[in-house]
Amino acid sequence: MKIAVVGTGYVGLVVGACLAETGNDVTCVDKDEAKVRGLRRGKIPIYEPGLEELVKRGKTEGRLTFTTKLADAVKASQVIFIAVGTPQGEDGSADLQHVLGAARDVARAMDGYRVIVNKSTVPVGTAGRVRDVVRAETKHPFSVVSNPEFLKQGAAVDDFMKPDRVVIGAEDTRGAEIMVALHKPFTRTGAPIMVMDCASAELSKYASNAILATRISFMNEVANVCELFGADVDLVRQAVGSDRRIGSSFLFPGVGYGGSCFPKDVKALVRFSAEKKYDFKILQAVEAVNEQQKRSVVGKIEKRLGPLKGKTIAIWGLAFKPKTDDMREAPAIVIVKALLDKGATVQVFDPEAMKVARGIFGNDVTYCTKSYEALRGADALVIVTEWHEFREPDFERMRKLMKAPVIFDGRNLYDPKQITTHGFTYYSVGRS
Ligand code: NAD
Repeated sequence: MKIAVVGTGYVGLVVGACLAETGNDVTCVDKDEAKVRGLRRGKIPIYEPGLEELVKRGKTEGRLTFTTKLADAVKASQVIFIAVGTPQGEDGSADLQHVLGAARDVARAMDGYRVIVNKSTVPVGTAGRVRDVVRAETKHPFSVVSNPEFLKQGAAVDDFMKPDRVVIGAEDTRGAEIMVALHKPFTRTGAPIMVMDCASAELSKYASNAILATRISFMNEVANVCELFGADVDLVRQAVGSDRRIGSSFLFPGVGYGGSCFPKDVKALVRFSAEKKYDFKILQAVEAVNEQQKRSVVGKIEKRLGPLKGKTIAIWGLAFKPKTDDMREAPAIVIVKALLDKGATVQVFDPEAMKVARGIFGNDVTYCTKSYEALRGADALVIVTEWHEFREPDFERMRKLMKAPVIFDGRNLYDPKQITTHGFTYYSVGRS
């Protein structure tokens, strides 16, 4: 099929590259000229495992092209994916200006039937708004489809190629059938393609992210209670997760969730429920617990070290999770800024997010090119992101580099008993 993908961010670029991989002709459109120029030269603007090879292959075989000219891409395509950002608006609602703007531009360029697919995460009712915008701009027939994306950054290519399910919200059978055909190659192992109404498809995405965020906040509260009673959250987690009704994933406590999706999607679901006068109480608590959790490690540091003015703190991990360079809403931002506000000197290291971090912290922190470099003269190390390379470090070398052997582990990477044998004072989450 001939496909256009509008927006070449974390979602759009993966969608475009994966659809080209299965033989479609894909034109990726972005309004960011520098990004498009870079992509044409083979420069991938984000870190995402496996994406570079896929883009390269698609480009070499002539199935994947990049442009800023949306109208040309629309004219050449049968299916148009809208995968632009839906950032959080001032009141917590999803800001739809990019989605509706893209829909309007698509409509103006149409010269015949098109399938217009909402790939962005959008509140219930957006398919209808897109339909109205398009109808106001064109006389040509079209189908609007809601096709929420469930990929995880850090495993995005794999998730798209082998999805747990594909959700297609459609208003008519023509659009639904085209979308089902397009996704068949990705569901050969039996993953279901679920065709439903647009409202249910739109809500499925928010409900999925919200339940994952709920599990995280819930386990963070369980961890806090473990600390009060001297229980071990790892043991509790394993006992709880062994119950097949519950399952073992997403039960890890930590320094709170971040990223471009969970925080904004939880807020948006609360917000659009409120528009129908529904008070989504659980999610308000999920959000409040998360805010508290991001700050709790700073409280622990102060309790141990006293006033932080003049203290040096090393940070391992800045990205909101491993295997990405994305720092949108990362807990590290809150933690580093709180440490700086309290007068600490902060030395940071992340395997992929250093460039992004410079745009956030400017000259306020010291950027280190190696993990060990960040430890030099540090009064404590804070582990914020669970990158693999932090799991088995050389503790002897760490101890020699640090001024004091103190670790605040926000991701429970180490065995508390074992680490004390290396001479460290160790604080983790929900374990004594
Ligand atoms: P992003 O900010 O990384 O990328 C958005 C891109 O769209 C940018 O490159 C921007 O320049 C471009 N853009 C904006 N308006 C445009 C227009 N009118 N024409 C052409 N290009 C335009 O965003 P993202 O992380 O890829 O997220 C996109 C959507 O997918 C959001 O709704 C998000 O909630 C959803 N989503 C994200 C993830 C994720 O893990 N990042 C997962 C599932 C769903």
